[in-house]
Amino acid sequence: MKNILYLIVVFVVSLSCKAQNNASKVVETTTSNPKLVVGIVVDQMRYDYLTRFYSKYGEGGFKRMIGDGFNCKNNHFNYVPTYTGPGHASVYTGTTPKYHGIIGNDWYDKEQRKSVYCAGDDTVESIGTTDKAGKMSPHRMKTTSFTDENRLFTQMRGKTIGIALKDRGSILPAGHTANAAYWFHGKDEGNWITSTFYMNELPKWVADFNDKKSVATYFKEWNTLYDINTYTESGSDLNNFEEGYKGKETATFPYDLESLRANNGNFEIIKLSPYGNDITTDFALAAMEGEQLGKDNFTDVLTISYSTPDYIGHNFGVNSKEIQDTYIRLDKDLERLFNYLDTNVGKNEYTVFLTADHAAVEVPAYLQSNRIPAGYFDNSGFRKKISQFLVSKFGASDLIENISNNQIFLNRIKLLEMNLILEDVQQVIVNEIITYKHIDKAYTGSSLTNSVFSSGIESLLQMGYNQKRSGDVVFVLDPSVISYSEKGSTHGSSFNYDTHVPLLFFGKGIKHGETLQKTEITDIAPTMSALLGISFPNASTGKPLEFVLE
Ligand code: ZN
Ligand code: ZN
Ligand code: ZN
Repeated sequence: MKNILYLIVVFVVSLSCKAQNNASKVVETTTSNPKLVVGIVVDQMRYDYLTRFYSKYGEGGFKRMIGDGFNCKNNHFNYVPTYTGPGHASVYTGTTPKYHGIIGNDWYDKEQRKSVYCAGDDTVESIGTTDKAGKMSPHRMKTTSFTDENRLFTQMRGKTIGIALKDRGSILPAGHTANAAYWFHGKDEGNWITSTFYMNELPKWVADFNDKKSVATYFKEWNTLYDINTYTESGSDLNNFEEGYKGKETATFPYDLESLRANNGNFEIIKLSPYGNDITTDFALAAMEGEQLGKDNFTDVLTISYSTPDYIGHNFGVNSKEIQDTYIRLDKDLERLFNYLDTNVGKNEYTVFLTADHAAVEVPAYLQSNRIPAGYFDNSGFRKKISQFLVSKFGASDLIENISNNQIFLNRIKLLEMNLILEDVQQVIVNEIITYKHIDKAYTGSSLTNSVFSSGIESLLQMGYNQKRSGDVVFVLDPSVISYSEKGSTHGSSFNYDTHVPLLFFGKGIKHGETLQKTEITDIAPTMSALLGISFPNASTGKPLEFVLE
């Protein structure tokens, strides 16, 4: 009996020890997670901005990330179209438009038979403005983001805050469960706003930021940060490939924003100058302070998207002095952000990743001037030509309902009325348009649904193709051919100039190193999930990048 009692005691003691061990292990894993994850998307950042402007960067921004962190030098988008909405959704959901459903910034909704905006939501109201610019939410994004999974994992105790000048750059990263997403309403207001999807009133720190009217102090003269003659990594300031601001004859430094604001949408011009990155950084610091981010053991996530580089790239082109100066100044903003994190969250207590939502093409007119094949595609001429063809072939003028994002949407009701078979009409269109100038490839929606493409442009088309939302015919333009003005750069294609973007990891849990192994944009979310030990986003198709994790 004594022996049995002894055995029971030993058993109970060992059980409770085991429980204690487990408990201490759980505490260990919780506290070893970063207190704060900062996800940074630089809108339209090409990979070569890291290398081309490297010698002009300071020690505390991009160079610090590369020097201490991990540099994935061959990181690409793995789908088309390479636009802002799909880009931000893919970074945070770890999957592509095929699954998350954000197939463009705007697209033609087959059910509603009208064009819809990726973040538009008529069921919510604006907060912080009476303008409809606040009627936004992530409801069209069908899958979870790693920010959502972190909220679920922490029982909603880890916060998520999204920030960007552009609504979609703020809303899609922050996910469905965000505490808040804020974006900037320019025009005559110059305020950070949100929607009733998140709250019914701006918190005090946001109201204070807006109230200070400090926004007006961003209307400064824009001159190059350093002597313009030292900017040898970009084209000449005066050239034929820049749009510039309204009310100034040449796209040349300096730019007096105060005098230009009246002709350029008042507060909108801030977004179109490097001071757009400054105000984004200032607001992010205010958010960390106001929301006490990174102050407890439940990992918070701050998503920041720098929208300004995209506006400047569209306006001045990727080879402009204006772009070079924008990145030199953005580097200073990053340094300021990291210094704040060091002081307020702690040096090895936070983790940062930095990437882009797409890159951008060299201005085709500039490429042509250097005898590189490039050009412009006339969308309305294309629509006219294919419509005329369909009239002659089928005797119907309204078979096409919409053409957008290089996709043709057919009028399904009309097809039924005329007893036409969808797949046949798709194929007839493919056979016709492949003969048109600057159309390099064309596929039927059926072929993208019924066969599997494992490599090349075909695979990128398929990963961007959402069976419910995408069109009936998909076409691809020649390399460096865009439908855009002859001044400035744009993006959207499956070519490397649009898909190759930086991917830098830095901070807690991240190894130092670099790789030329190909990584994909959809790898980011599973990598962050693995770092945090949380579930992967529900439709994630990427892989965790083991080599970047400690
Ligand atoms: Zn973008
Ligand atoms: Zn210029
Ligand atoms: Zn853009």
